[in-house]
Amino acid sequence: MERTFLAIKPDGVQRGLVGEIIRRFEVKGFTLVGLKLIHVSRELAERHYDVHREKPFFAGLVEFITSGPVVAMVWEGDGVVASARKIIGATNPLTAEPGTLRGDYGISIGRNIIHGSDAIETAQREIALWFKEEELASWQPCLAPWLA
Ligand code: ADP
Ligand code: MG
Repeated sequence: MERTFLAIKPDGVQRGLVGEIIRRFEVKGFTLVGLKLIHVSRELAERHYDVHREKPFFAGLVEFITSGPVVAMVWEGDGVVASARKIIGATNPLTAEPGTLRGDYGISIGRNIIHGSDAIETAQREIALWFKEEELASWQPCLAPWLA
């Protein structure tokens, strides 16, 4: 089953958006299989954003992501990687569509609320980086047959 890695960044946590964000993925129909609130180390932040190491915003990004608690999550479901990116919206909240998390809650590219893996392979790398296997729960929602 396809999985993605999502992280509510320090601005999302500070602004009290954790419940709303989790709700959006729950009501969509995806399954939460991993969840923890952690203070991210500099080492983890740098490894997570390794592809951006040479970008001018890298230092500020690492500084920000380590500045307060982050809610790290793994979600499961058919097509969850691409669908979560749609729910999250464009990187710059000013151009993100209304109805997306970034479109509804942000105005700054450096404070865009939430991270979501951009591809299935990236998701696998990020899940392995942030979670131990035993921290993930595999389970199936008990839906009535006519709902599944
Ligand atoms: P996304 O999070 O949508 O996958 P990127 O992978 O391109 O976006 O960038 C990672 C993160 O780096 C973004 O979510 C954003 O917080 C930050 N970022 C990207 N571009 C800029 C920029 N020009 N200035 C400041 N921060 C940026
Ligand atoms: Mg990205």
